Parts: sequence; structure tokens; C-alpha cells
Amino acid sequence: MMILKTENVSKSFNVRSGIIKGGIINALNNVNIELNEREIIGIVGASGSGKSTLAKVLVLLYRPTAGKIFYMDDDVTGYHGKRLKMYRRKIQMVFQDPYASLDPNHTVAWHIERPLKITGYNRNIHERIGELLDMVTLSPSDYFMDKFPHQLSGGQRQRVYLARVLALEPQVLIADEPVSMLDISVRIGILNLLKEIRDNLGISIIYITHDLNTVSMITERIYVMHNGFIVEHGATDRIISNPYDSYTKRLIEAAPNPYRRIE
Ligand code: ADP
Ligand code: MG
Repeated sequence: MMILKTENVSKSFNVRSGIIKGGIINALNNVNIELNEREIIGIVGASGSGKSTLAKVLVLLYRPTAGKIFYMDDDVTGYHGKRLKMYRRKIQMVFQDPYASLDPNHTVAWHIERPLKITGYNRNIHERIGELLDMVTLSPSDYFMDKFPHQLSGGQRQRVYLARVLALEPQVLIADEPVSMLDISVRIGILNLLKEIRDNLGISIIYITHDLNTVSMITERIYVMHNGFIVEHGATDRIISNPYDSYTKRLIEAAPNPYRRIE
């Protein structure tokens, strides 16, 4: 079943700049993507190709200049107020910087308690925090609950953030370069965790990255972006072994493989 879909979505920005022709940047051009239930898809492209703009349009932080966004069967493009709030709870973002996404003045437990209160969770909150920490394999959970962000590694912080997001019971996670600031050794653990989240909770995931090496670890299908266009999409294995598009070919040839070196 289809969960999230864009239909010919475009997004342009007006910029005051002498360098950019007409002062307009076309960050997305007629983008069509589809995310199915329990699926992990990848959005792959170089820096500046429009990946983060697509993520922000999907959660309606930016309104598309043209085109539509569908969640299940609903056209959500014009959602405002309460409906927008409900939609945004279902589609959660995970960001690149695990240092910026947690409040340094509060404990791990506080970070997870807040979303539980927002959703009106009415059973044992302490127990639920423990469950969520176990889910992101921060065990024993009682040990981590009282920790402050500065006492945790980057990978552990990203796990806390994931637990916080999962407390909201989303249908979709949009992970925008979620491991690119982490050490290589930690990245694989976080990507495996995303896969477990999909397997165990049935959440669909959009994994956004410039890194072709990690994309094949967790995605079934990918969309390749270039200058705001989807230049190619299909099964991840096929695209990596036999890309049709000339830009995709260049992207694959240019990709270093850091994982090979650590073997
Ligand atoms: P990526 O995430 O793939 O690196 P972005 O979506 O961040 O790419 O950016 C795509 C293009 O849109 C870039 O040219 C960027 O400069 C431009 N852009 C993104 N956000 C804005 C904004 N708020 N205002 C103006 N230009 C923007
Ligand atoms: Mg980006």
C-alpha cells in the first residue's frame, strides 16, 4: 500500500543575488516519488541536488511551488492548522547532527517523556521510556535515562533522538543524512537500527544521503537526484551495478568506498 507520494512537485526559491539568473533557484523540478508501506527507499544525490528541500516539502515545512503531496489517499498539500499538526506527527524527520538535535540541559528521559506527554500517553511513562530505549538498543535503559547529552557519543545521541521520534508513533521516518557526521564504525549500527525499526514497527523510511556506499545497505529502491530532477529510479542493486543514466554513472564512479579500507 502506498503511504506517501509526490505528484510533479516543484519548489523554487526567490533569491536576491546577481550570480543567479533571474534570482530564482529551481530546487525541485517535477519530482515524483512513491513510498510504500514497510519500505525503505533512498534519495541519493550530490550536495545541492535538492534532497533536503524534498524532505522539507514532504513534511510541509516548505510548500511546493507546484504539484501535490499525498499521504495515503489524502491530498495534504494545502493542510493547515490541526490537520497539518496531525500529519506532521505521522511523518518524522531525523537530522544529520545528533549534537544539535538534543537539549544539553536535559536528560535522556526528559527528551522522551515530552513527546509521550504530547501524544497523551496514559500508562506508565517510566516503563515506556525504558521500552523505547531498549528499542534503540540503549541498554540497560535505566543507566541511560539519567544521562545528559554531553555524556553520550554521537551514535548514542542519534539513538536517543530516534527513541524520541518513535515515542510519537510515526508512520514514516525521513532520515536526512542521519549518519554522515558519525564515525564509520558507528554508521552501520545506526543503519541496522533503522532496518530493525522498519521490521519491528512497520514504519516506512526515506533514507537521504550523498553516500552510495551506505544506500545499498538498507534500501530496496532508490531515486537519484541531480539539479532538482529525479534522473533515475529503480531497484538499488540494479542502479548500482548497471546505472542507465549518465549522471548516475558518474556518481557511482566518483564514490570512494571507505568500508573496503577498514576490512
Ligand atoms: P541537498 O540537500 O541535496 O544538498 P538542498 O535541498 O539543500 O540540497 O538545496 C538544493 C538547492 O536549493 C541548492 O541550490 C540550495 O542552495 C537551494 N536552497 C535550499 N534551500 C534554500 C532556501 N531556503 N533559500 C534559497 N535557496 C535554497
Ligand atoms: Mg541536504
